[in-house]
Amino acid sequence: MIAKVGFIGLGAIGRPMAKHVAGTFDAMVWNRTPERARSFVEEHGGKAAATPEEVVRWADAVVTCLPTSREVRQLMERDACGWRSGQLLIDCTSGDPASARATGAWLAERGAGFVDAPVSGGVAGAETGTLTIMVGGDPDWAVRARPVLGTFGAKIVHVGPVGAGHAVKAVNQALLAINIFAAGEGLAALAKLGVPAQSALDVINGSSGRSNVTENLIPQRVVTRAWPRTFRLALLDKDVGIALDLVKEAGAPFEATGLAKHLTETARGALGEEADHVEGIKVIEQRAGVEIR
Ligand code: NDP
Repeated sequence: MIAKVGFIGLGAIGRPMAKHVAGTFDAMVWNRTPERARSFVEEHGGKAAATPEEVVRWADAVVTCLPTSREVRQLMERDACGWRSGQLLIDCTSGDPASARATGAWLAERGAGFVDAPVSGGVAGAETGTLTIMVGGDPDWAVRARPVLGTFGAKIVHVGPVGAGHAVKAVNQALLAINIFAAGEGLAALAKLGVPAQSALDVINGSSGRSNVTENLIPQRVVTRAWPRTFRLALLDKDVGIALDLVKEAGAPFEATGLAKHLTETARGALGEEADHVEGIKVIEQRAGVEIR
């Protein structure tokens, strides 16, 4: 029975996820920049911990939402955390499968459980508690994680053993990247031919080429020139790198995934670590000498 839930990583998506956890469970949060944890507690309740170890010692289950698996391992695989039998680590980071298996094995030696549970649906989905969550792990631990995941997720799918959640997420992210750059190139070319973006999108979104990128991201962020920063391009590039490793290791062809990695890496190099993922389209606009409007 999970009553006390710790949450580590109050970033762009972690903070709205943690808000739902704190609304349902007795919660304790930790964030590297302590001011963010303090302001979270003021707004949403719960307790702020001084260290990640304090969170683990207190909680029945701990949720992590950090940039990569490296930070998860650095913070959670420490004897000072004092993991106990029956405790559960729910990793909502978009991480890599091999690290998930290593963390899962490390915790299993201490009697604790682990599921990788990356999320999809963006900051907007986190705010409304309607994220899609792909869970990798032992079925018993996946069932135990469900009440916690259900506070911020609307669709929760157990996809396989530990690491499978991260694997599915990485493939999804490669598809997102391919859609961003393919749609950006096509719409830039159409703009140069005098076709307004809205007219092109009206057609594409009633046709077989439509995607979340053409239906939502480009109309709401590119055509409006709003460019909100909700999901860093650097994180998308990290995700596509995980997908490329995964596809290569599986012995599948990797031309499309490899191209997606080249495109995200190039855009990240041009735009820096803080740019949003949709801003990758700015690189196409600059090279084409046109704005998608
Ligand atoms: P952010 O960059 O906004 O936040 C990262 C969080 O991790 C912050 O709380 C940051 O703390 C903390 N952090 C960074 N480095 C360290 C470190 N070395 N030690 C301890 N804490 C650290 O990322 P997001 O919230 O956007 O993303 C988190 C995860 O969720 C990523 O894996 C991402 O790919 C995934 N994701 C994000 C989505 C989105 O729309 N944003 C959508 C789906 C998945 P501090 O406040 O001190 O900087």
